[in-house]
Amino acid sequence: AELYGIRNWGAGYFDITENGDVAIHPFGRGSNVAVSIPEVIRELKERGLELPVLLRIENILDSQISSLHNSFRDAISTLEYKGEYRGVFPIKVNQQQQVLEEIANFGSSFHHGFEVGSKAELIAAISQMRDHKACLVCNGYKDEEFIDLGLHAMRMGFNCIFVMEMGWELSTLLERAALLGVEPQIGVRVKLSAQGGGHWTASGGERSSFGLSMSQITDIIDTLKAQDKLHCLKLLHYHLGSQIPNIRSIRSAVQEASRVYAELVKEGAPMGYIDLGGGLAVDYDGSHTNYVSSRNYSVNEYAMDVVEAVMTTLDKQDIPHPHIITESGRAVVAYYSVLLFNILDVSKIEDGCVPEEIPEDTPEAIANMYEAYKSLTLRNLQEAYNDALFYRDEVRRMFLDGRVNLRQRTLADNLFWAITKAVAKLKDKLKIVPKELEEIDTALADIYYANFSVFQSLPDAWAIDQLFPLMPLHRLKEEPTRHAIISDITCDSDGKLDTFIDPKGEKPLLDLHPMKNGDEYYLGAFLVGAYQETLGDLHNLFGDTNVVSVRMYEDGSYEFVREIEGDTVGELLEYVEYDQRRIMEDLRSMAEQAVREGRITAAERYDLLQAFYAGLRGYTYFER
Ligand code: PLP
Repeated sequence: AELYGIRNWGAGYFDITENGDVAIHPFGRGSNVAVSIPEVIRELKERGLELPVLLRIENILDSQISSLHNSFRDAISTLEYKGEYRGVFPIKVNQQQQVLEEIANFGSSFHHGFEVGSKAELIAAISQMRDHKACLVCNGYKDEEFIDLGLHAMRMGFNCIFVMEMGWELSTLLERAALLGVEPQIGVRVKLSAQGGGHWTASGGERSSFGLSMSQITDIIDTLKAQDKLHCLKLLHYHLGSQIPNIRSIRSAVQEASRVYAELVKEGAPMGYIDLGGGLAVDYDGSHTNYVSSRNYSVNEYAMDVVEAVMTTLDKQDIPHPHIITESGRAVVAYYSVLLFNILDVSKIEDGCVPEEIPEDTPEAIANMYEAYKSLTLRNLQEAYNDALFYRDEVRRMFLDGRVNLRQRTLADNLFWAITKAVAKLKDKLKIVPKELEEIDTALADIYYANFSVFQSLPDAWAIDQLFPLMPLHRLKEEPTRHAIISDITCDSDGKLDTFIDPKGEKPLLDLHPMKNGDEYYLGAFLVGAYQETLGDLHNLFGDTNVVSVRMYEDGSYEFVREIEGDTVGELLEYVEYDQRRIMEDLRSMAEQAVREGRITAAERYDLLQAFYAGLRGYTYFER
């Protein structure tokens, strides 16, 4: 468990069983209920569902919503805050219907609402929401149609709030509202000077592309006053960016926003809501620090700090406490999905043969390499490694010119890897390891070929080097003796994972078990429920993976509540404008021609067409 840090990043939802399997603890710490993931995989296979599979654990989603609300309830009652907490789920973080349905159902007891940023997201939210007390926050650029949809939602009784992101939106909103005879609820999104730190800071700060400057907000107030609509101004919103690792940044932003809120009340707006946007981070690496992939606070501390900062700022000016909205997405859904995948093959640097003596006609460059190998000691490590690199390049050039033959080239390659391996072993005895030598371990790592696409399933790992916890799902009582990087099934050299969570504080590779002949080896990528599904793309035409949702019960049983088959090859081809029927028709006429020309028989034509037909219906990933 320590090797992979599962108890640090697992938030109590994941641990290792006595048999060495990774298990899901759907009710978190303090409950003995555990379900082995390899057991779930076995059952999936019996049902004909191949890996890769995205496994969603519904209980974890429920539990994250409860924990957020409970933290705010505790903070509100401890501090005797007068407003309430109203969470909204930002749909962009995971738009899947199933996610919205679960949040709407389970969240209704807490009046958990939705935040939307487009017409499509608004319709998705309305289609799932039943709770009229929950907030429906409309951010994003709003055209007439978007505004009309929101106004109709208000007519149906939804608590819809239109947040003004740009100055020009207000006049359209007021015109459409007057036409439809609805009194709108208006919010303003402010650009704060505070900045978040972390990967996604561009959403905050005065130069951020979103939100209104103080002078634009003043203009809005003046317009509302002039049109006798100031009573519609209900909410102040800001969003500092996602995954804010440092609680200090969060506090300063809340204080600044609370000051703006107070000024809006003083201007005569009724207000009532302060919306702090997203940013509540996930501790992906389990370090509990202010690194980009972590956070230096708990959800309880977040809630306490937020409530306290709003309260102390407003109390100084005798302003009534508003309801606090947060648009936490990542923290609500990240834990809920795990990507399960299998390893297809491993590439290792084999120990090549280095002879006792080299032939007389060996070219000088190779002879020099041999000399470097024979005379390698702890003292001349760096020099020997430099020689190996230099002569390897020289031999490659000579091979191109025809001055080195195949056998000589093989000898040179073997010598190069023999030196590199010896240097890698000896370097750990050095007090200070030179930078160049540190990289040797990665060069020598095994490559485990994995049956998934980084671009489809972990796009942030590729795009912004985000770390996700990754580990074997079984065999954890055996020592993992191999050091590896992961290469995905796409033919793209960027389709790899070569940086991992590092609980021991050394520059890590992933410790994995050697493959046993014929046995499956399963790995899991954890905490992938936020952003990854919708950002994923179709590189090399690998499509959506199979998705399975499970619900677990107190007696340790579980139920597959939903299975969604991944994209088929035919569906993927349709995404890129092919027509499956047309493909089959073309194939049929090509095959017919082949029959006419005597290249295949009519029976072979049948088999061939059946194979293509089945191919179009097949999974895009590697099937055993
Ligand atoms: N609200 C807005 C306006 C956003 O742009 C985002 C995402 O960046 C969020 C909420 C969700 O943030 P997070 O996932 O950090 O909670």
